[in-house]
Amino acid sequence: MYHRPIILLIRKPVLFSITIVIMLVIIGTGTLKFKAALSQSLKNKVIVIDPGHGGADPGAHNTGVKEKDVNLDVSLRLRKVLESEGCTVILTRDVDKDFYNPGQYQGRAAKRIDLNHRISLASSNNADLFISIHANSFPRRNTYGMETYYHQKSPSGKILAENIQEHLTQLQLDNKRKAKAGDYYLLNQTKMPAVIVEVGFISNPRERKLLLTGDYRDSIAKAIADGIKSYFETPKEIREISEGIQSVTSQEGPAPISKDTYKVYFSKASLDGLSPEERSFNPSVWNKLTLTQKADLILKDLIKGPTSPDHLSTLSPKTKVLSVSLNNNILNLNFSKDIRENFSGSALEEDIAVKSIVWSMTQLPGVKGVTISIEGNYGDSIGGHVIFDHMLNPRS
Ligand SMILES: [Zn+2]
Repeated sequence: MYHRPIILLIRKPVLFSITIVIMLVIIGTGTLKFKAALSQSLKNKVIVIDPGHGGADPGAHNTGVKEKDVNLDVSLRLRKVLESEGCTVILTRDVDKDFYNPGQYQGRAAKRIDLNHRISLASSNNADLFISIHANSFPRRNTYGMETYYHQKSPSGKILAENIQEHLTQLQLDNKRKAKAGDYYLLNQTKMPAVIVEVGFISNPRERKLLLTGDYRDSIAKAIADGIKSYFETPKEIREISEGIQSVTSQEGPAPISKDTYKVYFSKASLDGLSPEERSFNPSVWNKLTLTQKADLILKDLIKGPTSPDHLSTLSPKTKVLSVSLNNNILNLNFSKDIRENFSGSALEEDIAVKSIVWSMTQLPGVKGVTISIEGNYGDSIGGHVIFDHMLNPRS
């Protein structure tokens, strides 16, 4: 009776302490295991980070902010995060430089030489991943949002892009963009899973301001690294099995032309893809035209631009169609160099411009794809992200 409360008084704190100690041990081991699993997923991985553009090529630019500088700084920060997780990181450049042949900054081969250098660095080092960092710009200042691209036929690239995009959008909760397939040279030519990360629009005042701060760049680097981590935590079998499967495309291509209207594909104002406008024609006149003449008419409407305020032009109004020819159901389009006029320099704008041409052309029965040249140069480019060295169709 008398002693009991004393015993209890002694026991309670002891029991309490023991419980706390046990709990701490359990939590501690759990955290350690968890941490071990996370860093294990990145340990010894070779990751190539490619800060887009550089040197003579500023990339997109707006009010004195150059894409090449933003890309480099975010890449350096990303290297730091990944190295702290045990990755081997190779940067294609860690200073402001390009890989052009000296004195050859323009024309069909120039950009390809620069990009090939970056790609072969990744192949010769047997990189596990290739991460190219870019920034966007667009004439409409209110357009904003980070986005991630993968190659249409790389399911593992898609998984990587989706993971990165998911972590990026946590920094930007109103960003509803999903990872997208893009027909970019870098993605077409790399053998390992590869993505292009567009860290934001330097043309949007709010996003530009954020992109100029170190804290924001750090959080982008951290989000990309977290995305890479989640990618490697996806069971290896899923990543590898899916690699062998040709991805099924959800894009079916444009609707076939009707008997008295064709469609001209412009950009949606939201930049989330294409949207058609109808143009009517007189069937009796139309039916007398050759396929290349029909293509020429549609291209001229595309260059003229949209009539709806919900749509955006995809090509400079100064662009001239120099020639259109047909070979084995492939339309060969030759544009004047004005197609580069007023081009913002961003990968997104380039992707949409190419798609608007391809979709507007492949609605014509008998056209299975297009090739594009600029002033007769095949292998040229509007802005250096999409190189016209292959046949383009709605599924490319
Ligand atoms: Zn770029």
